[in-house]
Amino acid sequence: MKKYILTLDEGTTSARAIIFDDLGNIVSLAQNEFTQIYPTQGWVEHDPIEILSAQYSAITECIIKSGLNVSDISCVGITNQRETVVVWNKNTGEPIYNAIVWQCRRTADICEDLKRQGLEEYITNTTGLKIDAYFSGTKIKWILDNVKGAREQANRGELLFGTIDTWLMWKLSHGKTHATDETNASRTMLYDIHNLCWDKKLLGILDIPESMLPTVQKSGSVYGNIDIMGAPLSVCGVAGDQQSALYGQHCINVGDVKNTYGTGCFLLMNTGETAVKSQNGMLTTIAATTQNSPTQYALEGSVFIGGAVIQWLRDEMKLIENAAQSEDCALAVENSAGVYIVPAFAGLGAPYWDMYARGTICGLTRGTGRNHIVRAALESIAYQTNDLILAMQNDAGVTVTSLKADGGAARNKFLMQFQADISNTNVICPSNAEATALGAALLAGITAGIINGDISSINSDSTTFKPNITDYERAQSISGWKKAINSTISFTKEK
Ligand code: ADP
Repeated sequence: MKKYILTLDEGTTSARAIIFDDLGNIVSLAQNEFTQIYPTQGWVEHDPIEILSAQYSAITECIIKSGLNVSDISCVGITNQRETVVVWNKNTGEPIYNAIVWQCRRTADICEDLKRQGLEEYITNTTGLKIDAYFSGTKIKWILDNVKGAREQANRGELLFGTIDTWLMWKLSHGKTHATDETNASRTMLYDIHNLCWDKKLLGILDIPESMLPTVQKSGSVYGNIDIMGAPLSVCGVAGDQQSALYGQHCINVGDVKNTYGTGCFLLMNTGETAVKSQNGMLTTIAATTQNSPTQYALEGSVFIGGAVIQWLRDEMKLIENAAQSEDCALAVENSAGVYIVPAFAGLGAPYWDMYARGTICGLTRGTGRNHIVRAALESIAYQTNDLILAMQNDAGVTVTSLKADGGAARNKFLMQFQADISNTNVICPSNAEATALGAALLAGITAGIINGDISSINSDSTTFKPNITDYERAQSISGWKKAINSTISFTKEK
């Protein structure tokens, strides 16, 4: 029996291909970076053709490295950077503009206009999102409004839209599959997450013809064949990166939480069949499920500056030579000696939502040294994550008892222990750090029938960090953080 799963993990900076076996072990991996295009301040684009070729050469390299034949592979899973928009002509197969990347702020004005029209509540109630330039809807509108002849072509039914999963499937199926999954659809700001359909009112407001939009399927379902090295392979799982990681971390029950500690941090909590509306500025989104399971939802919050604060220590402050060294510095001192860093370099996100806040370092004394500063920077990642956990607990009415961790900064054992201490919860780091790709692989493998529905034994090898401070110590530390947050907010507040 064929027991291998090919996973395409298409991220913001690189396209990767990973082959897993039916026990979730990595058999081989290949990766290609692609160009980040910054046409002007705040704009970010990718070349969709370059992404396709970066992805395809990663696939071929991965298969060759594995020593397997394409015919040994049972199915394909896809996970991708969410929200990024490609619009192409279905007759020529050519994109009519570069992909507009999730980070791109060019549609901030369109978003302001939607707010002025009083649509905030409608959009949040329907899509689970806040009005923001991150999401796909306003980016599609921008392309239709700004690329010469696009609107007419769209009205004639000649244009298609897709997030990167959709684009890759359409190209690799030679135009046969135009589909996406519920998790990707739920990030477009066009999808009704309760009734599971494209929202006609929003399509009308943004003037986007429905004929452009892909069919939406369950994350774990059959999407049709793609052509890999001349052979057909069935795509059986698709999920946006964060929901894929949630699934790959086995967070499939109510109250299960994962945090990805990357450049920023993405915390998601499974809320089961209930779409919880946040009172604290979190997003409500669809979680990945398989064909026969009921729709599940998740709350999502993000920390803008997570691992990026460590890059800042390295590149701008020159306090460390590499990210891993931050752990040695932090462990070289007993505590941060009352120093707090609030890395609000680009404002404060949930639950504070202060776009004008800027970073601060509080509590300096004559005895403050490099190690205290480095330690305070690492601690800031945990404090910000803890703020999200507390807000989500409030929203969902559940207590978090364990947190699954992945991403680059989850390698830092000091950070993981500090997170466990501050959040009074077990922090679990799986030894296989590829949670994002694994999620899509599991969805595909279950759908194809080579993995059974009970995934608990897959990738279960992990390290657990247990809370190890007193309630008093925790309360003292958190109270210091709150004071630092208040100072940060008041620093930029107009008098
Ligand atoms: P992304 O997917 O966002 O590019 P990664 O998951 O690759 O991010 O993680 C990279 C981030 O993790 C960087 O911001 C880096 O500073 C941070 N990082 C990597 N290793 C460590 C470490 N040992 N300690 C602290 N931070 C780290």
